[in-house]
Amino acid sequence: MESQYLLSQNDLPTQWYNVIPDLPEPLPPTLHPKTLQPVGPDDLAPIFPMELILQEVSQDRYIDIPAEVRDILQLWRPTPLLRAVRLEKALGTPAKIFYKYEGTSPVGSHKPNTAVAQAYYNKQAGVKRLSTETGAGQWGSALAMACNFFDLQCKVYMVKVSYHQKPGRRSIIRIFGGEVTPSPSEETESGRSILAQDPDSPGSLGIAISEAVEVAMLNEDTKYSLGSVLNHVLLHQTVIGQETIKQMEIAGFEPDVVIGCVGGGSNFAGIALPYLQRNLRDGTKTRLVGVEPMACPTLTKGPYAFDYGDTAKMAPVVKMNTLGHDFVPAGIHAGGLRYHGVAPILALLHEHKLVESIAYYQIPVFEAAAQFARSEGIIPAPESAHAIRAAIDEALDAKEKQEERVILFELSGHGYLDLSSYDAYMAGDLEDYAYPEEKIRESLTHLPQVDF
Ligand SMILES: *Cc1c(COP(=O)(O)O)cnc(C)c1O
Repeated sequence: MESQYLLSQNDLPTQWYNVIPDLPEPLPPTLHPKTLQPVGPDDLAPIFPMELILQEVSQDRYIDIPAEVRDILQLWRPTPLLRAVRLEKALGTPAKIFYKYEGTSPVGSHKPNTAVAQAYYNKQAGVKRLSTETGAGQWGSALAMACNFFDLQCKVYMVKVSYHQKPGRRSIIRIFGGEVTPSPSEETESGRSILAQDPDSPGSLGIAISEAVEVAMLNEDTKYSLGSVLNHVLLHQTVIGQETIKQMEIAGFEPDVVIGCVGGGSNFAGIALPYLQRNLRDGTKTRLVGVEPMACPTLTKGPYAFDYGDTAKMAPVVKMNTLGHDFVPAGIHAGGLRYHGVAPILALLHEHKLVESIAYYQIPVFEAAAQFARSEGIIPAPESAHAIRAAIDEALDAKEKQEERVILFELSGHGYLDLSSYDAYMAGDLEDYAYPEEKIRESLTHLPQVDF
């Protein structure tokens, strides 16, 4: 039985798919964090290059991928689609399970798909340096690699606790010539003010964002880059779904359900949006399911409301599902899924019931990861393992109902730099953090009051 569906380099998409003109209603405005009034392109110009600001609001359904960007994407794209034949057997399910594997990129996740595009547009705009934040280091290493290809400097503020826990990714950033600083740092006003209150602060994504944005605002030659959530990031990830549609055709199966893990929502949107386009245009009924950790179930449990993108209230205010900008999720091992908000595009689609969501505790997620590794030979990233849990549960449900179901999930990255998390799982040291209802209720009382 065939288990791999490969495309040639010629099959790399030439355009990104922009879902904005196909949304069931326009996206609510993006608001300035100080005035809470809608922002225009000029408000964003100090931190993003104009091409990306224009992509953020573009009404064009297709946007050409520049040749220079495709040349680099071709180093690892198209990525493989595989059928998890051994996993199907192990589960004894009549369902067929396919997965699109993004872990074959040089840094092991889907994140370079947008990092390369963002570095390119910044280079075109004459920018010399990009600043960003990173949690576990997946985004920082992707951007450092992309900056290296376009001869840009890269400054990464890495959440201090991860900086010490994940030395591998900080080495990768440095090998590509990037500069990585544990956050909070003494280098910025935001960092210094946190350290003055708490010299031992472990840092957070919110604090690191504030430091990176501050550096971009204060330096003419520096812009800021974000690895998820924004419309243009989701746009750049749609190469994933476009390739997958072709590969599923070669495989000769139509997915009944498409599954991806959701942090900020970019990898799930990357595979799901091209399928959503078909649902809306052709009347197909492919289910689209985003999977979250129970410790941070933004789409599953958060209200759809305007909130700040970061803890320090420096990032724009957008309407999304949120758990509150000052909510700090428990230290689960899927660091990439610990964001209080979610992409506004996904939030709107979820509101209209065009995408579904589900949340899992981390121990069953690691059980699924281990079962997948033993069947398929790939050790998944803890983030990606959330999608595997949901895919296995779909397959078991199909087994119970004796249904032929075609299940497709995205494996967003490999876990070879996350082995300490697996050690903790195997030693029985993982904890299923309960859904932090009280903390979230408290945090939700701090949402900005706006009437858009
Ligand atoms: C960053 C990351 C995620 C979560 O980010 P999204 O924007 O939701 O895709 C998921 N998986 C991996 C491997 C990651 O590195």
